Amino acid sequence: MLEISNLNVRYGAIQGVRGISLTVKAGEIVALIGANGAGKSTTVRAIAGLLPFTGDIAYEGQKLRPNAAEKNLRAGIALVPEGRGILGRMTVEENLQMGIYCRSDHAEALIDINRMYDRFPILRERRGNLASLLSGGEQQMLAIARALLSRPKLLLLDEPSLGLAPKMTSFVFDLIGSLRKEGLTVMLVEQKARHTLKIADRAYLLEMGKVVTSGMAESLANDPQISEAFLGGR
Ligand code: ATP
Repeated sequence: MLEISNLNVRYGAIQGVRGISLTVKAGEIVALIGANGAGKSTTVRAIAGLLPFTGDIAYEGQKLRPNAAEKNLRAGIALVPEGRGILGRMTVEENLQMGIYCRSDHAEALIDINRMYDRFPILRERRGNLASLLSGGEQQMLAIARALLSRPKLLLLDEPSLGLAPKMTSFVFDLIGSLRKEGLTVMLVEQKARHTLKIADRAYLLEMGKVVTSGMAESLANDPQISEAFLGGR
């Protein structure tokens, strides 16, 4: 579904990503793990079309152009950004309506908003509230629901568990598993590597803008070197 080769992204003098190559097959959960500043967010932001880049990103066989976020969204790539990107001064309902702006099937899209309320009943309860008044976990649900409303094929999740309590973190990880069962392909950026490797099929470990290791999630989780360096040695 996604084939990236030799991706480079610069922020002026700083090179955020240095020659990354990776693939994602349809139906997989692929994790990007690594320390702060490793280049994980830069990679997913480039895929979403939010950054200039050099190298190739092919999605369903078509090369993606840099800075083509809206086109990529219409092609089925949705990003839930780090920090969620919720519009705090808008209501829950208004935030969800933002999620359908790229849809031409308006009537069906409104039905989808209702389906999201069925999936996340707390959002229905809070539909008239300002999004800033939601808890961190509720905001993450809202961000994911909003992304799903574009009916993506590839969902890019940037640190969805950041700042969440353990119970809500488990909820989000379970949700990712369910979404995959429903046919969605997921690229998951996470710092909680141990938990991530439990739900991912494959993972890429990034360091200073490069892929240093990749493989089946289970074998990475059991690799003593990886465990020592990134999983707290447990
Ligand atoms: P984090 O978990 O902290 O988000 P990350 O692995 O996602 O880490 P990136 O955010 O992709 O890492 O950052 C990769 C490199 O690019 C870092 O050196 C970072 O300082 C730099 N960088 C990221 N965003 C910018 C920016 N807007 N301007 C300048 N440099 C940036």
